[in-house]
Amino acid sequence: MKLFQPKRVFIEERALDYPLGQEIKERYELLDIPVKIIESHNRIDWGKKELSKKELFDLAKSTLVAGVKKTLKFQPCYPSADYRLVTSTSCPARCEYCYLSATLGSAVYIRVYVNIEELLAATQKHIDKSNKQITTFEASSSSDPLAVEHITGHLQQLIPFFAQQPNARLRAVTKFANVDPILNLKHNGHTRFRFSLNSDYVINNFEQATASMRERIEAAGKIQRAGYPMGFILAPLMIYEGWKDGYTEMLELLHKTLYNPETVELTFELIMHRFTTRAKNIIQARYPETKLSFSMKNREHKGFGKYVYDSDTAYELENFLRDKIEELFPQAKIEYFT
Ligand code: SF4
Repeated sequence: MKLFQPKRVFIEERALDYPLGQEIKERYELLDIPVKIIESHNRIDWGKKELSKKELFDLAKSTLVAGVKKTLKFQPCYPSADYRLVTSTSCPARCEYCYLSATLGSAVYIRVYVNIEELLAATQKHIDKSNKQITTFEASSSSDPLAVEHITGHLQQLIPFFAQQPNARLRAVTKFANVDPILNLKHNGHTRFRFSLNSDYVINNFEQATASMRERIEAAGKIQRAGYPMGFILAPLMIYEGWKDGYTEMLELLHKTLYNPETVELTFELIMHRFTTRAKNIIQARYPETKLSFSMKNREHKGFGKYVYDSDTAYELENFLRDKIEELFPQAKIEYFT
């Protein structure tokens, strides 16, 4: 797939004091992509007064903003890891169901932080004062870091940093496939990569501007051969006509691609599609033609305005996937179904 190229770039003035801020400025000026210096990465002036939700979303998703992360504190990230490690927010993909895109509101532009050395120093301090034997950090709680790796190179700094940490581990998750720059890094098994996978139907209909199922599986094969611990997030699991065939095809291709699939230690996280009434309204405004099903036919209310599949449907989905995974990857650990 083609790597993200913004249509416009905003750079916070302070970000120019950092090498990455300068590099981003020079790179996009050379490419004749409009670059504007701004006061704060939190305040973007789009230059137009009346923008519909859809217009604002389209503008934001094609905009790169480079800024300095001022808050170097670490928020908890249950259940994925102990803490979030935020080096960017949002991402260039347009997954129609995306929870992150819905919660970011107008700040859904692709923001990258340029002060990575300061972030690494703060991470080191946090690890040193942690009373846990192993402290874990999630790099993908606010973005898909691989989606902007060609712009930031952040993973190429984070992975060797964590390789040297006896008491800390990094986790990342992606829907992208541009893994080549990280294959030869020294990682010491301290970074776990998870690929977010789905059937062709879900990816083709609802995950615009991400890598295809085949590209992600091929990238997973490369990551496995590079010796990284690895896992898969199957999400959002959807019921549609032919879903069993779609998920079987995906798991069989994965089985064919991975080395020693019967003995490899993998993790699987299974998350069914869910939505809130608020997210549904945002999605329908941004994607008026969406084919996402918000039908209440096989749904139940989970509280706080959230809807998931009803228990019979969820039971069928869970059992089908558990059986398939156990058959193809007997050593894999299914961490949860939710
Ligand atoms: S790749 Fe992840 S963060 Fe980006 S739009 Fe899709 S679901 Fe959201």
